[in-house]
Amino acid sequence: MTELPDRRLLLVHAHPDDESINNGATMARYAAEGAHVALVTCTLGERGEVIPPELRHLSGAALGGHRLGELRDAMRALGVADVRLLGGAGRYCDSGMMGLSDNDDPGCFWQADVDQAAGLLAEVIEEVRPQVLVTYDDHGGYGHPDHIQAHRVAMRAVELAADSGWDIPKIYWNRVPRSVAEESFARLHQDLPGLPFDKAADVDDVPGVVPDEQVTTAIDGTAHAAAKAAAMRAHATQITVAEPYFVLSNLLAQPLFTTEYYELVRGERPETRENDLFAGVAVGEAS
Ligand SMILES: [Zn+2]
Repeated sequence: MTELPDRRLLLVHAHPDDESINNGATMARYAAEGAHVALVTCTLGERGEVIPPELRHLSGAALGGHRLGELRDAMRALGVADVRLLGGAGRYCDSGMMGLSDNDDPGCFWQADVDQAAGLLAEVIEEVRPQVLVTYDDHGGYGHPDHIQAHRVAMRAVELAADSGWDIPKIYWNRVPRSVAEESFARLHQDLPGLPFDKAADVDDVPGVVPDEQVTTAIDGTAHAAAKAAAMRAHATQITVAEPYFVLSNLLAQPLFTTEYYELVRGERPETRENDLFAGVAVGEAS
């Protein structure tokens, strides 16, 4: 077993780009502080819509291969070295948006056997021994089948790893406090005439928006804003950035958050909002 740093963070995401959008500042901050930051991405996003016209010829496996390159570039921008595809690149493919016939593709992640996929993730958990795991809520943040499945697989893998001897003390779901989202969108509407984007998204288009009191944790990644923006830019097929805003393939502008928010769903819920994912964790144990 190779030596791992005392603090170890594992993130589980559905597609290349989700990690940078949701957790880029958090990942850059903990990597810079010397924590071990590991990312498991479940699919290569083969069914993502491509923004740049010159790359729109890419689809299926070719798009997946391209997006793997984007993911590697993004992780370099964040200073994260440990990035893995669940079961290896191409093991599970993108399931497409909910309700499409793509969801029936036998190779897609939505059709994966949850226990089998969770077994693959549990192996990573047993190797990395994270004190903190970050993933989506049971709605996948916004209802994409791969995000819902990533949630199910992550939560099941936590149980399997606990049975094998590594019980993760803290689990977080990605969140955005409603007041923060509303203030950011108010600013966006004021700024929109000066932006290279025509329209704005709606607050409720942002995954994981919840009442403020549900949010337990805020990670100030302001010092790593440039790294987060660079990581998002690396996902050029999926994201166009004009700081502090960006668009996805729907071309609707939304805020780029450099403070990232979480809800603690396993571990002792703090009385006031905490500012460190490792708060209260006895680091260095069983390392
Ligand atoms: Zn996604």
